[in-house]
Amino acid sequence: MREVVVERGPDGWRAPFRRLLAEGLPPEDVRVTDARAQTTLLSLGEGERVSPRAGAKAPRRFFTIARRVACHADADRYDLLYRVAWRLTHGAPTLLEDRVDPDVAALRALDSAVRRDAHEATAFVRFRKLDDGTFAAWHGAEHHVMRLVGPFFADRFSDMRWVIITPHESVAFDGSHLRYGEGSGRREAGVPDADAMDETWRAYYASIFNPARVNPRAMRAEMPLKHWRTLPEAALIPELVRTAGARATEMQTASAPDTREAADAADSLEALADGVRRCAACALCRAATQAVPGVGASGGVMLVGEQPGDEEDLEGQPFVGPAGAVLDAALRDAGVPRAALRLTNTVKHFRFTRRGKRRLHQRPTLEHVRACRPWLLREIELANPRVVVAMGLTPTRALLGQTVKLAAVRGRVLESDLGPSLLPTWHPAAVLRASDPLERRRIERELRDALARAHAMAS
Ligand code: SF4
Repeated sequence: MREVVVERGPDGWRAPFRRLLAEGLPPEDVRVTDARAQTTLLSLGEGERVSPRAGAKAPRRFFTIARRVACHADADRYDLLYRVAWRLTHGAPTLLEDRVDPDVAALRALDSAVRRDAHEATAFVRFRKLDDGTFAAWHGAEHHVMRLVGPFFADRFSDMRWVIITPHESVAFDGSHLRYGEGSGRREAGVPDADAMDETWRAYYASIFNPARVNPRAMRAEMPLKHWRTLPEAALIPELVRTAGARATEMQTASAPDTREAADAADSLEALADGVRRCAACALCRAATQAVPGVGASGGVMLVGEQPGDEEDLEGQPFVGPAGAVLDAALRDAGVPRAALRLTNTVKHFRFTRRGKRRLHQRPTLEHVRACRPWLLREIELANPRVVVAMGLTPTRALLGQTVKLAAVRGRVLESDLGPSLLPTWHPAAVLRASDPLERRRIERELRDALARAHAMAS
């Protein structure tokens, strides 16, 4: 068994893994830990040698995910990463598309936890001023995310000297360089519990608090209780929630939101995206993290999905989650560059139900689709695509403005009152849902063909 020690952080595993793969050392002969968990250096033991496939490389997406997974606190994360890297380079180059594979499922679960932890760090770190002018914060991160979020804070607080301490590690900024060090518990960190800035935080929070969007369960999920002790504004929450109902009714009677008016007023795609981000016209905005406006090129092909998923909701970008990965594969097979497309959704906020820590997709209701449709129609006017690909039942019905069965129109080019031709096809998530391999391949093929056809029509 070869025991390998890598440097902790998003990139410490890369060079050692490259060496191990080049040597052809299979995962069952390797145990990887990080520098803080063990003090011995790279040791050279004997293992069964298997030659890697000549020229085999892990896909770029693996590196993106692996950087985050390497920051998870799970002691076995490097072994999992090496196993996946090995399989990707030894006969399974599309492994990441196989979401039922246990290694891929585990990888995605760790990735998702780190993304959430990093997101919480950027949202919930609160600095307190020390006597020497340095700003310090203690934050209860669960994973080693400071190397992921350090550059974000350096950019945002570039004119301050600051330090963030977490249980696992710390990061300090002196105005020009980031330095990483050991972490500590909250008490040992010595960060004051309060300072003069707290009142400013509370005033700011009270001013942005939208009573029409209050959902205490969702708030606790999005702002987990474990962070409340370091958030000065958390003290306000019980009272704001208690009075939210009355204030929301007041707001609604004063001005009922009208998406059609707001959408029609947008004179550019940027203005439209701003309007979507501010929209509170239906209940979906209460639980979602943020709205996800459309992105991409104008004038060619516009792909319209149903709604953002869990990862899109966290990142604020369409098609970056599992369905996005399926879409990317279909685009690759169809020879269509993603950058040539516009990507958007029928409904711009994520609808979900909670199951433990997981947020499970729920199809938007007719009421949500109706409320959000003006944003989509205006986006089509402003982006002026030649072909709109409606991916799934929800966009097909929303764009045709009538109740049809997807099977009756899928794969057909339809004329619509909207201007561009309309081509209904599968939503990429249908590939993920298909349990029968034959059915899955059929959906993949039809999706790919629809994308290639739309691209050819718009060229
Ligand atoms: S889903 Fe659409 S209509 Fe509803 S709040 Fe979001 S942007 Fe507005």
